[in-house]
Amino acid sequence: MSRLEQIQNVAVLGAGTMGAGIAQVAAQCGYQTCLYDIEEEYVARGRTGIVAMLDKGVARGKVSEEVREQTLDRLRTSTRIADAVEGAHVVIEAAPEDLALKRKIFGEVAAHVSTDCLLATNTSSLSVTQIAETIPSPNRFLGMHFFNPPPLMKLLELVRGEQTSEECVQLSREFAVALGKDPIVVQDSPGFASSRLGLVLGLEAIRMVEEGVASAEDIDKAMELGYRHPMGPLKLTDLVGLDVRLAIAAYLSETIDDRRFNPPGLLESLVEQGKCGKKSGEGFYLWKDGKPIPKSNPTD
Ligand code: NAD
Repeated sequence: MSRLEQIQNVAVLGAGTMGAGIAQVAAQCGYQTCLYDIEEEYVARGRTGIVAMLDKGVARGKVSEEVREQTLDRLRTSTRIADAVEGAHVVIEAAPEDLALKRKIFGEVAAHVSTDCLLATNTSSLSVTQIAETIPSPNRFLGMHFFNPPPLMKLLELVRGEQTSEECVQLSREFAVALGKDPIVVQDSPGFASSRLGLVLGLEAIRMVEEGVASAEDIDKAMELGYRHPMGPLKLTDLVGLDVRLAIAAYLSETIDDRRFNPPGLLESLVEQGKCGKKSGEGFYLWKDGKPIPKSNPTD
């Protein structure tokens, strides 16, 4: 049996925007999957999101009733980490973007899994090498950076830390393909390839709203119609979460030491007001029934 075939059980830690989506992908692709979070209400919310996503897939004819049922049958939830990772062959962490928190989580995980369990973080920007510092056998640790929403986005950015073995990268490439993804491999540099480039565009768009250059809607339209981006940078910021983008900007401005990544005041102020984008109902747009509605004053 190949290493890939030995993978049967997957644990996903963090049942928010990304964790729920990643768990859905794993369960839908045939893996017994456990979705973990710190509170029962969070895992319940994650599961409800998965059911809604599957239902949408069925309604659009993209997912069969049978696949919907099988996916939900393969999915369990837990609020106890030892229980969540028991027997896991792959653990994917999707907790908040906080280095100390991620290190703490993997310290706990490592105590409960075998030393050949593949360990991955979904961090968008943090150093994979630093997250792995406290883990025994860090050669089986890497970044698996999924995109939002994970069931629909093909890209999987694999991030090779200083300690990541070639075998781990190879197995992760095969696992990515088994999840229906198209992987790229990037060195452990702040923001990797995708977040570093995507953030420059997103932050500049926010500064343009701040300066009154154009409305959020028109800036997005410029990139959608003028450059064929499937979604403008401000709508995308709402989808990613303004809090998530702020955390990445703060980290990149510190580590790359470049003013390009300084968080704009408007981003900080919207996050302070709890306007975190689609998930909170308001960011650069108002969100109703999953659809963005332009705001009369985008700096409010
Ligand atoms: P989120 O805030 O939606 O979800 C985070 C979840 O982690 C919450 O449900 C929270 O309760 C849970 N959590 C808190 N403490 C935890 C702990 N100790 N153990 C396990 N779970 C815990 O955030 P998100 O947008 O899903 O982002 C999660 C990670 O994925 C971050 O590292 C982020 O940078 C990355 N990421 C986000 C996106 C995106 O578009 N939002 C895209 C790619 C990667």
